Amino acid sequence: MTLDDVDRRILRQLQENGRSSFRDISSKVKVSTPTVSSRVQNMTDIGLIKGYSVLLDADLLGQVSVATTLEARPSDIDRVVNRISTEDIVRQIYVLSDSRILCILSFYDQKKYQGFMHSLGSIPEITKMDNSMVLRTPKESPRASIKDEAGLLIKCYYCGHQMKDEGVKIKLDGKAHYLCCSVCAKLYKEKYERMKAATSSPS
Ligand SMILES: [Zn+2]
Repeated sequence: MTLDDVDRRILRQLQENGRSSFRDISSKVKVSTPTVSSRVQNMTDIGLIKGYSVLLDADLLGQVSVATTLEARPSDIDRVVNRISTEDIVRQIYVLSDSRILCILSFYDQKKYQGFMHSLGSIPEITKMDNSMVLRTPKESPRASIKDEAGLLIKCYYCGHQMKDEGVKIKLDGKAHYLCCSVCAKLYKEKYERMKAATSSPS
C-alpha cells in the first residue's frame, strides 16, 4: 500500500482542520464522500491517522517548558525511554543519533519539575543531563508534514519487517491487514483465526 494524491489531499485538509466533515473534504478534494470515508478508515486502520485533537496555545495556559537532553549508552537508551515516557511532565521525546534523548517537559508547578529531576537521579543509566528553559517557541508545527514525497512505511503485521513493495492486503472481519508476502499472509490468517476461536466463548 502506498499513499496517493487523493490520500495526501485528504490528509492536508484534515491537518488544516481536524473538524472538517467528510462532505467538506469531498468537495475540496473532488472525490465522493464514500471515497473520503473509506480512505480515512484505511489510514486510521494502518495507524497513520492516530487521532484527532485540539491545538492549544501552551503559553496562554501559563505553563513552563524545559528542554532536557539525557545521555546514556546506546544499549541503555530504550530503558531510559521506557522509564520517562510514562511521566505526564514529559510531553515529547526524541531519540537522537548520538546516544542522546531530547525531551520537552511542561509543567505548572516548580515542585513537580524538581520531583521529576530528582527521579531522574535514580536512573543509573543516565550518564549526563542538560536542562534549558524554553523562553519562546517562534514556530511549533506538527512534525508530520504532508508533501508529495510522503510515502508510507508499513511494517508487516506478521513478521514486523518493513514492506518494500505493495505486499499483500487481506480483509478480516471488514478490516484491512497488511502482510509482506503470501507466506506471512497465510501464517497471519491462521494465527488470527486461532486467536479468534480462543477468545470466542464456546456456545
Ligand atoms: Zn512478513
